[in-house]
Amino acid sequence: MRTITLANGETVEVECLSCALVNGLIEPEGGVVMETEHFHAHQDVAYPIPGLIILASKRHLKSLDELTEEERIDYITVLAEIRKAQQNVLGIESVYYFYNEDTTHHFHTWMVPRYDWMYAFGHSVESVRPALLHARNEMNDEANLKSVRQAISALTEELER
Ligand SMILES: [Zn+2]
Repeated sequence: MRTITLANGETVEVECLSCALVNGLIEPEGGVVMETEHFHAHQDVAYPIPGLIILASKRHLKSLDELTEEERIDYITVLAEIRKAQQNVLGIESVYYFYNEDTTHHFHTWMVPRYDWMYAFGHSVESVRPALLHARNEMNDEANLKSVRQAISALTEELER
């Protein structure tokens, strides 16, 4: 079991966080943003940033090459739909995407919106971690959490259309 720190500061113990989320053992803030046969999209549970979406496979697998052809098509389609919704309802102009294969969870892609305040931590990939930590440590106030929840609702609504 691993201990995961959530955005609200609480901790949970799980074997695989992605399995716990896609199977509903942990309810992410705002619930499911989008769900297909093979994928599950939700607000990131650790960092309170509006529109920071995690797209996780439903199957417990580790890397992209393990996806079946059907899952690959579903993956890229869902990824593009969420990206479009981030632009349409949140005005997000740039997104950083990454997934790492040495995670303790299973296959999930981070869709990290780029906000102007993040440039205080530099440009490109090296600024991502400090920006995420800043959000967790300094933006855990009710006003920001409210905007996170509003972003989830807006994305969910847009993706249902
Ligand atoms: Zn898993």
